[in-house]
Amino acid sequence: MRYRLHDRRAADRPANGDTAICPKCRIGIIEFNERYRVQLVTGKTEAIPAWVCDRADCHYERAARSGSDRIPLQSSSAELRARSSRQLMKARAVLSRAQQTLSKSLGRKKQR
Ligand SMILES: [Zn+2]
Repeated sequence: MRYRLHDRRAADRPANGDTAICPKCRIGIIEFNERYRVQLVTGKTEAIPAWVCDRADCHYERAARSGSDRIPLQSSSAELRARSSRQLMKARAVLSRAQQTLSKSLGRKKQR
C-alpha cells in the first residue's frame, strides 16, 4: 500500500522539460523547470522548481511544490499570518489552562 502510494507520486512528479498548455493565456506553453530563478524579496535570486509560460507578455509562473515557503512576496504575508495565528492560539490555550487550574483549585477549596 505504502509502496503504491510512493510509486504513483513519483510518476506524477514533473520532469525538466515537461510541457502543458498555459492555464492563464491558453496560447502559450508552460514548461517545467527544475531550477527556475526567482527574485526574492531580499534581492537574492534562488532556483526553485516551477512552471513557466513561454510567452513573454503572459508572465505566468507557478511554483511546482504547493505550500512551498520559498516563493517570495506571497509567502512572507502568509507566513506572518500563520505565525500570528499560532501565537494567538497559544495565548488562548494558556488562558484556558489558567482558568481550568483556577476553577479546579476553587472547587477543591469548596469541598473541604
Ligand atoms: Zn501564458
